Amino acid sequence: MKTPRIVIVGGGAGGLALATGLGRRLGRQGKARVILVDACLTHIWKPLLHEVAAGTINSYEDELNYFAHGSQNHFEFQLGRFANVDRERKVILLDALTDTNGQEFAPARELTYDKLILAIGSTANDFGTPGAREHCMFLDSRQQADRFQSQFLNMYLRAHAMTEVNGNEAELNIAIVGAGATGVELAAELLHAAHKFVEYGLDEIAPNRVNISLIEAADRILPALPEGTSNAAKKQLEALGIKVYTRQKITDITETGLLAASGLFIPASLKVWSAGVKASDQLHNLAGLETNRINQLVVKNTLQTTLDDSIFAIGDCAACTPEGASRPLAPRAQTANQQAMYLIKTLPLHLKGKKVSNFSFHDKGSLVSLHKSAVGVMMGNIGIQGRFARLMYVSLYRLHQLALHGPLKTSLLFFKDLLSKKSGPTLKLH
Ligand SMILES: Cc1cc2nc3c(=O)[nH]c(=O)nc-3n(C[C@H](O)[C@H](O)[C@H](O)COP(=O)(O)OP(=O)(O)OC[C@H]3O[C@@H](n4cnc5c(N)ncnc54)[C@H](O)[C@@H]3O)c2cc1C
Repeated sequence: MKTPRIVIVGGGAGGLALATGLGRRLGRQGKARVILVDACLTHIWKPLLHEVAAGTINSYEDELNYFAHGSQNHFEFQLGRFANVDRERKVILLDALTDTNGQEFAPARELTYDKLILAIGSTANDFGTPGAREHCMFLDSRQQADRFQSQFLNMYLRAHAMTEVNGNEAELNIAIVGAGATGVELAAELLHAAHKFVEYGLDEIAPNRVNISLIEAADRILPALPEGTSNAAKKQLEALGIKVYTRQKITDITETGLLAASGLFIPASLKVWSAGVKASDQLHNLAGLETNRINQLVVKNTLQTTLDDSIFAIGDCAACTPEGASRPLAPRAQTANQQAMYLIKTLPLHLKGKKVSNFSFHDKGSLVSLHKSAVGVMMGNIGIQGRFARLMYVSLYRLHQLALHGPLKTSLLFFKDLLSKKSGPTLKLH
């Protein structure tokens, strides 16, 4: 009998955990060929991107190479950008990838599948706001976070180089649109980095002259979390000196700043758009599959797309409404992870043509990092904050590593991180 081919597109929080689990479960014994496709060569856990952007972690130290990880976990890796699917022929089409000189290093090609799992994540949604694409930075990928880090650092380098001329008079205006988890975490992390720059001698921009504005259209920050949590986060951000604006809908963005519908103008040289969420436009009308208004593929409770049982979707690109729920699950790392764990159990049954139980989601809570502290809810709706909450927040990344590497390697990585924090700079200065 032909060995079935399971193709997973997207090696993020959900797709990489799935490829690893299926590789160990099916690939190792030759029961299936497990193939992971990603447009990048390396994985970095997306919830770390605000730290990459602030330079408080070095993306080159925290990344995982798909080829190496695949060879250790019995799955194959294919570098390529997913473009389309031909459901009749059961093939996916990959676009060519080219380097900065226009040289092609991964040609356009087709890959056949028996089961296809789409896990290509999401991006922020600028809702077509004029000037957003041209003047804002986004934090949807590691490349974007690296670019932000480089621009942020350059502001300090410029101020440092100009000390003789200007003295220690420089200031920096940063505006972040969207006070969901990404915006809130980024604001707190940038302020921490501002203090670190001073420690390393780049003291021309004093932390109290780094003006960070966090702008939210809703009537409170972290609108997806309970009101108590959002109030606690606002209080902590304001105590740090971050200016929090609510009920301010940004309508126009220029090189010099942001204009709100109320007429308020917020000057900013560094602007970040972290509001809203949508799946890739390429999913809209993808081979006639059902999508919702934010391009997510609508899936059944088995995570199969509603119109094709051979195609599954997980994580941010899937609209999954569990039984009894009124809305699809929120795009979060724990949703992607739980869906991956479910498919590791059920895909082998699908291959045998057996019936599977439905996916059910267990909300373990939500935590938002404020650098040394965190706020959030756990075990139902119990609000937590402070250092304990931060410890729980950090343990989420370790759990992701545990799913990928097992206990021994995760412990080694923990000690490696501890040693590099003790021995090297805690801010990326290049
Ligand atoms: C700064 C930040 C902080 C966050 N903090 C938290 C948090 O604290 N807690 C939480 O639960 N969630 C958080 N999130 C959200 C969380 O990161 C996502 O919900 C989660 O990563 C979704 O997992 P995923 O597998 O669906 O997609 P992703 O992890 O985004 O992975 C998608 C993968 O698909 C690949 N890909 C995309 N398009 C293509 C294509 N066309 N072809 C091939 N490959 C492609 C990408 O390279 C990527 O590897 C945060 C997000 C950000 C940006």
